[in-house]
Amino acid sequence: MNDIDDILARLAKSPFRQRFVLGPRERDYLASKGVDAVRDHARHFIGKRLAPAKPPNDGKQTPFRGHPVFIAQHATATCCRGCLTKWHGIPNDRAMENTEVDYTVAVIERWLTRQTNAGHEPQEPRLL
Ligand SMILES: [Zn+2]
Repeated sequence: MNDIDDILARLAKSPFRQRFVLGPRERDYLASKGVDAVRDHARHFIGKRLAPAKPPNDGKQTPFRGHPVFIAQHATATCCRGCLTKWHGIPNDRAMENTEVDYTVAVIERWLTRQTNAGHEPQEPRLL
């Protein structure tokens, strides 16, 4: 596991990852539910879709739309166990440990918070 600010800075340089930004719908959703509730959703998604050993459909378990957490997962390379291994150093040959789930949720939350604070300039991912 890496320092969250370092990893977000590295991710922001990836042309693939920087395509993912929150749209107006996701921003509204986040604003109306609040970060705490959305963090709980993230924990639920991670626990169900990523944390088990050999999760079903690994590499394809995270939709590209429908929830701000999904967008955040693609933006932060927490979308599947392969990306978690490659970018975050979390081994994918076993179930995730609780500390790894906490870290993953924290990465997603940090990214979501930065997106919210980035105001109305989501087309400028370098500001992240
Ligand atoms: Zn992935």
